[in-house]
Amino acid sequence: MHEKDCIFCKIVAGELPSAKVYEDDHVLAFMDIGQVTKGHTLIIPKTHTKNIYETPPEVAQEVFARVPRIANAIKEAFQPAGLNVLSNTEAVAGQTVFHLHVHLIPRYGKNDGFHATFEQHDNIASEHLGELAEKISSKIQ
Ligand code: 5GP
Ligand code: ZN
Repeated sequence: MHEKDCIFCKIVAGELPSAKVYEDDHVLAFMDIGQVTKGHTLIIPKTHTKNIYETPPEVAQEVFARVPRIANAIKEAFQPAGLNVLSNTEAVAGQTVFHLHVHLIPRYGKNDGFHATFEQHDNIASEHLGELAEKISSKIQ
């Protein structure tokens, strides 16, 4: 299923070029044009889904199952010190292309160009964590 105006569907269809890393019947991995760090790669399903929220488990399974192999290939190729795996979901989280993709961002050090900051909060009462967990678990379908 391809969406008419989706650039990643066009890449899958070969209507736009990409630097391919890996391809099979279900997924495509290619170099991110923005190269946050050297070797920055995207893995996408060939079928169009908007993001994690709208991805059926069988499509998620195909995409995420390929992550370790491709991550290890990046590791072999460039010897990064580590790697971030990321899937920005909705605009507020930085999603700009609305076809599911998983970023593999190799990490070379603290000042390698990748910035992810989040504030941790200490001493959250365990009852409060329990309440939060219950709110989520009651919604799992
Ligand atoms: P997002 O911001 O949605 O998490 O990530 C979208 C990513 O797609 C960005 O990192 C951006 O550099 C990359 N991107 C956008 N357009 C193209 C394109 O035409 N070709 C390739 N290879 N990457 C693209
Ligand atoms: Zn698409």
